[in-house]
Amino acid sequence: IVHLDKITKRFGKTVAVDRLDMEIMAGEFVTFLGPSGCGKSTTLRMLGGFETPDEGRIVLAGEDVTGRPPNRRDVNMVFQDYALFPHMTVSQNIAFGLELKGKTRAEIDRRTGELLDFLQLSGFGDRTPEQLSGGQRQRVALARALAPDPKLLLLDEPLGALDAKLRAQVQVELKEIQKRTGKTFFFVTHDQDEALTMSDRIVVMNAGRVEQAGTPEDLYFRPVSRFVAEFIGETN
Ligand code: ATP
Ligand code: MG
Repeated sequence: IVHLDKITKRFGKTVAVDRLDMEIMAGEFVTFLGPSGCGKSTTLRMLGGFETPDEGRIVLAGEDVTGRPPNRRDVNMVFQDYALFPHMTVSQNIAFGLELKGKTRAEIDRRTGELLDFLQLSGFGDRTPEQLSGGQRQRVALARALAPDPKLLLLDEPLGALDAKLRAQVQVELKEIQKRTGKTFFFVTHDQDEALTMSDRIVVMNAGRVEQAGTPEDLYFRPVSRFVAEFIGETN
């Protein structure tokens, strides 16, 4: 469903992403894992249409979407800080993308209600984000991203702000949601345990390039380099 065709992104002299080449299958839970500054967010932002690659192409469901803005590709993104609209209620936050797409009021209300149910937020629709817990905010961000029914969901360290207990719970929930919806999830983390438990496939990044891509077992038992072994495994 996704092909990143040798994409490169530079910021001045920094090469944030360096001829990155990879494919993602429909329905996969893929995780980008790598140290701070290795280009995970930049890659995700290019996929979402928030940055344009300097070189290479992004092909989504057979279509070249390289220069297209975010609202004209079938992708949605959950940002690290959730980026909820603070002055809007939970329902209004979820409805936002549907309004942009010109859905009718009835369709918007039905879909919003469905998502509130689905993410166990019934009864919270009229609150504002500041009246919610971290985990609830996280679910609103997810509901908002799921609302327009995108093929591909991009999640940039969405659990970073949660405490350990809630984080473990939301990890399970996220994985469940991905399975139930059959959507393709592209997840970013620098936490190897999180990557190992949640992913169908892990892509280890190092300095803007793919160091190794494979199943959690592949990376854990058959790392191709010391970098992967040290990043994935226990310290030895
Ligand atoms: P982290 O785990 O800390 O979020 P990351 O892997 O997401 O890191 P990126 O945000 O993709 O890393 O950044 C990759 C490189 O590009 C870094 O060296 C960063 O400083 C640089 N960079 C990212 N965005 C910009 C920007 N808008 N302007 C200049 N440099 C940038
Ligand atoms: Mg980042």
